[in-house]
Amino acid sequence: MSDAYLRFWGVRGSYSAPFESHLGVGGNTSCVEIRVDDHVLVCDAGTGIIPLGNQLMGQSDIRKLLIILTHYHWDHICGLPFFVPAFVPDWNINFFGPGQCDQEIKEHVSAQMQAPYFPVGTETWLANIDYLQPAEDQLINYGPLSFNYQNVHHPGTTYGYRVNVKGKTVIYVSDNECLYLGKSIDRQYEELNEEEKLLYDEMKKEEYAAELDLVRGADILIHDAQYTPEDYEKKRGWGHSCYIDTVNIAIEAGVKELYLYHHDPNYNDDAMEEIYQHSLSIIREKKSSLKCHIAKEGLIVSLD
Ligand SMILES: [Zn+2]
Ligand SMILES: [Zn+2]
Repeated sequence: MSDAYLRFWGVRGSYSAPFESHLGVGGNTSCVEIRVDDHVLVCDAGTGIIPLGNQLMGQSDIRKLLIILTHYHWDHICGLPFFVPAFVPDWNINFFGPGQCDQEIKEHVSAQMQAPYFPVGTETWLANIDYLQPAEDQLINYGPLSFNYQNVHHPGTTYGYRVNVKGKTVIYVSDNECLYLGKSIDRQYEELNEEEKLLYDEMKKEEYAAELDLVRGADILIHDAQYTPEDYEKKRGWGHSCYIDTVNIAIEAGVKELYLYHHDPNYNDDAMEEIYQHSLSIIREKKSSLKCHIAKEGLIVSLD
């Protein structure tokens, strides 16, 4: 195995999907490990972080890691109460996520383990736990890795992360409704007067440009692609993207490699294959060089 890689430990959104028909893609919720030698950066702590923790326990050369959370919805933190390294004294675990200060991040991480929701609180974590302060320039260094963060379009404060690793840019945007404004305007466009139409057209353009900026320059983009167009119609405003929009944005922004991510737990392996094939056909039609994949649990991508 190379010494710089990323590994998908959980690829589902919303809730875990441990069903036989889904296991080709995987059932655990959001968690991606980015590894450079003995430096471990973990993006989100859904149920996928549980098997990651178990594996790390067997690697005696690693006793330190940084967990960066996009936000605090359950599917992104629910693996933490079962993350074994947190309960072991010689571990050093750093957290970062949305919040005005380290204390606020600590409160959000701890809340899910309070009574009556869980039998033990984070005071039973024996590891040395640190919560990082937000950086003024939104850039944080971690050994050979660095990352910055920015708000994305998802209910509550949610971050997208741009990770610099070995000269490559990995962008992790697990939950983001990439064209929320544009889509919602389209619905009621004909009811607007001319002035409102002009204003909305302008806002729509701005939103589109901001979405391109968010993912531009990605060697690897891991992005929300939760819904088919049919399901997206029913769930506008929930903060997730239709996979077609994700693919089109990646093409337009010149992304090199796209991993469709945060899969809806209702979609089995056959449904995911349809999404994949349709995505490839969009890329062919547009004569784009974008490489597109379905993020699958257990998949390892070299970063060397
Ligand atoms: Zn989510
Ligand atoms: Zn969410």
